[in-house]
Amino acid sequence: MRILLIEDEPSLRKGLCEALLRQGYGVDTFDLGSHGLAALELAEYDAMILDLGLPDVDGLALLRRARSLGKSLPILLLTARGDWSDRVQGLDAGADDYVVKPFVLPELLARLRALIRRSGASRADRLSLGPLQLDMQQQLAWLAGAPLALTPKEWAVLLALVLHSPAIVSKRKLVHSLSEWDRELSSNALETHVSRLRHKLLGASLGLETVRGVGYRLKLPEQACV
Ligand code: CA
Repeated sequence: MRILLIEDEPSLRKGLCEALLRQGYGVDTFDLGSHGLAALELAEYDAMILDLGLPDVDGLALLRRARSLGKSLPILLLTARGDWSDRVQGLDAGADDYVVKPFVLPELLARLRALIRRSGASRADRLSLGPLQLDMQQQLAWLAGAPLALTPKEWAVLLALVLHSPAIVSKRKLVHSLSEWDRELSSNALETHVSRLRHKLLGASLGLETVRGVGYRLKLPEQACV
């Protein structure tokens, strides 16, 4: 799950970013609306948290632009106390929910979870992890927008790793999921599939790690909030 956070107030942005990371989300943060919008055009996000009061562009205009680009992700607004007309206009312009500053973190996180849950039905067959996107229905994958050519076994390994990321997936589990009903996959064959997959992911900001004696895991690099 990857969240786009656009908020110009440094301590709020950093605090929110850290809280989101602790919840296991990936986060991209921007203080300028124009930069956030550029990121939204390039990457797939599962939700956006948008401050309406930005220094460079009007948050409402950014919101309308996002919807006019066909972006259907859930959008949670951060609004100032008393700005009821902003909230009304924000909801009318396509936002899904809002929280009023100052808010309590657990409420914001719960609202975000609810939005993601509700949007899940339409996007359940799409998975993303950092630059990687998977279409479960068609069994297709993209890396930074470019199609990734995978064999069915490589696809199965990748899917298991993405679904469990950043946790380790045991070799036993992978062997089991890759075996055919009449033929057990050997541990050597598994290693071959994994190493081919690792080669195809080379250069991406994703690490396919071998945890000696246990299994494998797919991890995004450690992120620092600014
Ligand atoms: Ca602001």
